[in-house]
Amino acid sequence: MAYLINPQHTIAVLQKFQFRFQKKYGQNFLIDAHVLDKIIQAAGIGPDDYVLEIGPGIGTMTQSLCEHAGRVAAVEIDKNLIPVLKETLAEYPNVTIINADILKLDLAGLLQRENGGRPVKVVANLPYYITTPIIMGLFEGPAPIDSITVMVQKEVAVRMQAPPGGKEYGALSLAVQYYAKPKIVANVPPNCFLPRPAVASAVIRLKRYEAPPVAVQDEKLMFAVIRASFNQRRKTLANGLANASNLPFTREQVQSAVRRLGVPADIRGEKLSLMQFAQLSDFLKEVLS
Ligand code: SAM
Repeated sequence: MAYLINPQHTIAVLQKFQFRFQKKYGQNFLIDAHVLDKIIQAAGIGPDDYVLEIGPGIGTMTQSLCEHAGRVAAVEIDKNLIPVLKETLAEYPNVTIINADILKLDLAGLLQRENGGRPVKVVANLPYYITTPIIMGLFEGPAPIDSITVMVQKEVAVRMQAPPGGKEYGALSLAVQYYAKPKIVANVPPNCFLPRPAVASAVIRLKRYEAPPVAVQDEKLMFAVIRASFNQRRKTLANGLANASNLPFTREQVQSAVRRLGVPADIRGEKLSLMQFAQLSDFLKEVLS
């Protein structure tokens, strides 16, 4: 089978199978060899690796993953793509094609059965409509994850990597940075895909920490505090937390915790680092106990 990263080969396969793109599945297939090489290189894949590919499409990236990795599991929701993948990946004995919704798949069970529970490297050109649930599901779920190297909307990649203080910094930055070290490895224009998406894209690598970079007594409370702080971005941190319907604290309790943190009383949430959010939520936790 010819390499699909060549646009002519992609078009030939689409025509042969009379494939119709489904917008609801975020189908924009990669047709740029340079970008594909960058993804494979950034993911750092070798023959000992077990790779999970989310949304293989017609198998363009899967072909390359199969050539570099020990084993590949490719999870595709669109049943119309399964016969295509069977053909385009026919010569690779190390791939398992799974017709499933990644958000519903028992990934921990799959990895236990197929890889003895060892960590997996996730590589994908993600369907953009579910980027955040996929990434947070991988980090928060029970499956062992080594790293996630993915194509996402550029704006989302920038938010994931954003440091405190700027307008891109928010709940997603903190959630991702609690679990992993992010690094944007390539910017990718719309003409690298078929059909062209309406937005610019970027490849980001998220290398999972062995342990989170900050210690916090109650992760759930910390993330509730983070969400509440950014839900009302234009308010001060203290006002945002005191008014939040998902938090039980009085204005006085919040003000006292902010004072203990040693920051100005009128500070906004976007100025706090992950470490400061962890401390703040530990101070608030004391009030509850
Ligand atoms: N990997 C291919 C490539 O780079 O050419 C296709 C990438 S395309 C942006 C996203 C793929 O994810 C599509 O094949 C789409 O059908 C699939 N997809 C969408 N939602 C999914 C879900 N919930 N679970 C698994 N695959 C999904």
